[in-house]
Amino acid sequence: MLEIQDLTLRKGNKNILSNVSLAFRQKEIHSLLGRNGTGKSTLGYAIMGLPEYGPASGKVLWKGRDISGMSISERAKLGITLAWQEPARFEGLEVGEYLELSRNKDGKGPSVSECLREVGLEPEAYLKRQLDETLSGGERKRIELAAVLAMQPALAILDEPDSGIDALSIDFIKNVIRALVKKGSTILLITHHESVAEMADRTSVLCSGKLLKTGRPEEISRFFRNHCQPCTHVNEPDEEVIPHD
Ligand code: ADP
Ligand code: MG
Repeated sequence: MLEIQDLTLRKGNKNILSNVSLAFRQKEIHSLLGRNGTGKSTLGYAIMGLPEYGPASGKVLWKGRDISGMSISERAKLGITLAWQEPARFEGLEVGEYLELSRNKDGKGPSVSECLREVGLEPEAYLKRQLDETLSGGERKRIELAAVLAMQPALAILDEPDSGIDALSIDFIKNVIRALVKKGSTILLITHHESVAEMADRTSVLCSGKLLKTGRPEEISRFFRNHCQPCTHVNEPDEEVIPHD
């Protein structure tokens, strides 16, 4: 359904992504591994169409159609959503209103209360709360996950925050992913947690903006542990990646 073709993205004179090609199937969970700064979030932003993340070359195709020139809101209408790296900022709304606005308009998705329960928040205690700094960072992250669930997106790009994810939240991420896939969503999962990455059908590993390998999660996780932590090749962005094996 989504295909990235030979995507190169530059910032200044540096390639942040180099010739990345990758295709996601419907209902697939695809996890992305890579050390900090290897371009995982950038790939998510390029798929979502963030203004500063247009490709220097290459394409993003949605069901065969080139969407490389589309804005974020046009892509959102196709059912693409990006969540999580930054907590939700929708001050002035109540939690229930925010989730209601997020809800997929076909009415087939879970209710607002069901979405809250799925992330471990009691609806009675949270529906009327203001979406502001009286909620903890963790609560906001969970509410944003609940919003993704309410949306029932065709493609959810879940870019896990670098910090602030506790063991409890991991279980909620898993709940939400399972519930989304059951209803037909495709998930691009950017995670540091192996137990989450293991839910994937396929995993890819990025290194210095290049896609090194795609394969079964166990195989790619093993490769990542053996070759990326620490990185076993010359980690210079402008050097050719030296094959690992
Ligand atoms: P990851 O998510 O894998 O940690 P990122 O995609 O955030 O990595 O970043 C990849 C590289 O691109 C980093 O070297 C980062 O500094 C650089 N980068 C990301 N966004 C910008 C930007 N807006 N301007 C300049 N460099 C950027
Ligand atoms: Mg990142």
